[in-house]
Amino acid sequence: MREDFLTGSDPDLCSECSQPVPGRPTFVEYEGEEIFLFDPIICATCLLELCQRHSVVCANCGNKIPPYSMVGVLKADHGEQQYVHMTTRCSSVGSAFHGYLGKGTLGPFVQVEAC
Ligand SMILES: [Zn+2]
Ligand SMILES: [Zn+2]
Repeated sequence: MREDFLTGSDPDLCSECSQPVPGRPTFVEYEGEEIFLFDPIICATCLLELCQRHSVVCANCGNKIPPYSMVGVLKADHGEQQYVHMTTRCSSVGSAFHGYLGKGTLGPFVQVEAC
């Protein structure tokens, strides 16, 4: 008995480098945060690169916040925005706006806590 798992479905292509992405979600670990990305389709290599390029520093704990994770947005002086983690490890947010940090428009995503 032989089953063909690929019947009828082409592999998804990375929206950054157009290489086939073997399966979703794409999973990377960056700065201690685990990121599971369903949409957009991005391969692990590109996702890690995006993390390095687009992550911001948390205004609360000083650690990196990777793109495609949930953030709290704080209004700072001079109209600037500061970002904080929306995780249990870094949770002294107080009154803040909730938002998503990403590159361009964001699709749905899931973040799983590393604890
Ligand atoms: Zn890629
Ligand atoms: Zn933090």
